[in-house]
Amino acid sequence: MNDMDVIGDLAPSTALMAELNANGIRIECFQGKASPVSGNGLEWACADWYRAERVFRIYLPLLCSAHQLFHELLHCYFGCIRGMELVVAVTGAEPRVQAQVATFNNDFDHIFVVQREIEEHPEAEQFWDAEFRRSYAELDLHAADVLTRYQNKMMLLKGWAVLDVAMPKSDIRSVFEMALEGYGCKEASHTMSEAIKRAGSNKRAVVEVFLEALGFDYQNLRRATYAAW
Ligand SMILES: [Zn+2]
Repeated sequence: MNDMDVIGDLAPSTALMAELNANGIRIECFQGKASPVSGNGLEWACADWYRAERVFRIYLPLLCSAHQLFHELLHCYFGCIRGMELVVAVTGAEPRVQAQVATFNNDFDHIFVVQREIEEHPEAEQFWDAEFRRSYAELDLHAADVLTRYQNKMMLLKGWAVLDVAMPKSDIRSVFEMALEGYGCKEASHTMSEAIKRAGSNKRAVVEVFLEALGFDYQNLRRATYAAW
């Protein structure tokens, strides 16, 4: 920890790391190195969980804020200590589907991870605001083809869940809300996020209400299974 080049208050991360250590989890941090699993870590922080060894390896960019480290630790905290399950593709699913479901799992984690991250590091809200603006700008909301519209709807709903739970006062939340209204699912999105607030970190319940709000049968998630960390 001491030799890390991180901007901001490290105290929340140090405390969380101690809690994870006390639960038999070893945390290893690598700065300026890419994860051998995902290849990420140089531009964005990322982490890999080695279940058998109970080791959590975190990869951080050279220029990095303390909230990014805290964020990665929170993924481990919610999984290992709060018992939030992983949603995983069915056995035998092709790698493309596995990757897609893993992305969904990560996005669903973010509903609770980002909320906790901002509570402890208010400066993280600006970071996430910029992230959501960037992903929103990439959407072609006026696309006419059905598949793009399905994809947009999924993106908007996933984003909405994080924004409504973790950043209820942000301007970008209203931008997502307006887009969801344009897709005819403003009401469904509100029903979804209210249900998520009640579900807490119960991943199965989150997936259930997400699929309900989606309004179409997304088989990759419908058929997914759950696993402990
Ligand atoms: Zn994350």
